[in-house]
Amino acid sequence: MIICVASGKGGTGKTLVATSLALSLSANHKVQLLDSDVEEPNANILLRVPMKHSQPVYIPIPSVDETKCTYCGKCAEVCAYNAIAVIKKKVLVFPELCHGCGACPYLCPESAITEEGKEVGVVERGDSQNLELIQGRLNVGEAMAPPVIREVKKHIDHGSVVVIDAPPGTSCPVIEAVKGSDFCLLVTEPTPFGLNDLSLAVEVVRELDMPCGVIINRVGLGSDEVEQYCHREEIPIMLRIPLDRDIATLYSRGIALIEGMPHWRQEFLRVFQDTKGMIDANRSAE
Ligand code: SF4
Ligand code: SF4
Repeated sequence: MIICVASGKGGTGKTLVATSLALSLSANHKVQLLDSDVEEPNANILLRVPMKHSQPVYIPIPSVDETKCTYCGKCAEVCAYNAIAVIKKKVLVFPELCHGCGACPYLCPESAITEEGKEVGVVERGDSQNLELIQGRLNVGEAMAPPVIREVKKHIDHGSVVVIDAPPGTSCPVIEAVKGSDFCLLVTEPTPFGLNDLSLAVEVVRELDMPCGVIINRVGLGSDEVEQYCHREEIPIMLRIPLDRDIATLYSRGIALIEGMPHWRQEFLRVFQDTKGMIDANRSAE
């Protein structure tokens, strides 16, 4: 079972939820936590799992053999990312724009393009008792998060409960992290910004045809507009976490919620049971 924890914006408590869920479940299940927030992986600040393996992630960047090239311009024509240009008798490759999609080497009529690996990040792995942490880390200055997220997800063990901590937002890296999950937990806060970003995240999840539920963090902060929205859209509210100085203090000290306040474990186990029930209902309705 794969549960993705996502949010329309950063700072809503997504990592707090993902780590609490993973730690709660790991007492009785084999659990993998995939930190796919590769620009800023921070789940391990709370989990403190010793990392044992690290492997680089490469993307294939085109390299042009100008002795074969006829400067036909086909490569620039097929590149959707403007990562290759043909100017008179010169082919220019812009590695920072290249997505390594393989279209230009495939379509070059002269077979003048080969590919060279360019390191864009790393995948690190470690474990502690029943919990395995797999985290991606994008190299500083790199923009290509999806290939690193794809490498993280290659380590999914379908015999474990998998919790994915997605990047914030609603762009390509989020879709890469969310797709293929059985359920998406959307974390938000009860503010107008929270509502706006939640509604965008709901659109993405619905586009992927995936069941979802909402966790409202910092309840007491704003209005009940998020509650009303969920009611209107028939999205279940799985958990409400209050605005609480003690919770914020634990987080700022790098202490996982269920370690500092063990009574929350039952709440997250209930969220898991409810999620499981909704996944089963969704499967039997298909
Ligand atoms: S498609 Fe191949 S032959 Fe044509 S310009 Fe690009 S590299 Fe040269
Ligand atoms: S590999 Fe894809 S993204 Fe990179 S330059 Fe070629 S066509 Fe463009």
